[in-house]
Amino acid sequence: MAFSNAYKSLFLNIMLMEEDTLASAVHNDDWKKLDAYISRLQIEEPSMDVWKKIEGKPLDAEFIDGMVAQKWKAVPEFMHLILDGICDYVNKVLRLNNFLSGYGRDKTLFHEMAHVRYGISDSLNRPDWHKNAAIADWVGRKSSADPELLSRAIFDFGLEVQIYDLASYNAFHGIGKLSFRDSGRLKKYYEKIGILMD
Ligand SMILES: [Zn+2]
Repeated sequence: MAFSNAYKSLFLNIMLMEEDTLASAVHNDDWKKLDAYISRLQIEEPSMDVWKKIEGKPLDAEFIDGMVAQKWKAVPEFMHLILDGICDYVNKVLRLNNFLSGYGRDKTLFHEMAHVRYGISDSLNRPDWHKNAAIADWVGRKSSADPELLSRAIFDFGLEVQIYDLASYNAFHGIGKLSFRDSGRLKKYYEKIGILMD
């Protein structure tokens, strides 16, 4: 499950009023803060099963192919604005809010895939939901920054190709309409943007 930015900032304010919890970092979209939070969590809670899983089972191309072979689908659909995505295990569907585009859509797609890969739920009725949400986001963002994995996921799930940063440019340039454009100038443009992680 992935919450929208508007919801997260509202929730963050509530959390901060209650206590300066670890969770506060989770609801921050700043990559550096998220990365620092995960490093701290690894030190403070080394016994969490998920660390070993992340080391032994990367969210790689083989896994993405496997999801599709097991009939998983990724579907943009209408959903409440507080949600960016839902991992629907029962129906094997990664549901993506259809108002998302570009980086937001792909970040959400990979977040939901990370839930499947590591079996970490962020249902709000779990006391550790915020940790699992952060871990899914952390793994997801790192994987979506890899052009090979990004193109694999988009093509495997049959989603629309969208270019918005250097990783997505590297994944998809030369495809379709883009190959007719001045790719040198486009490349420079996306190099300036860099790889989005926040
Ligand atoms: Zn989630």
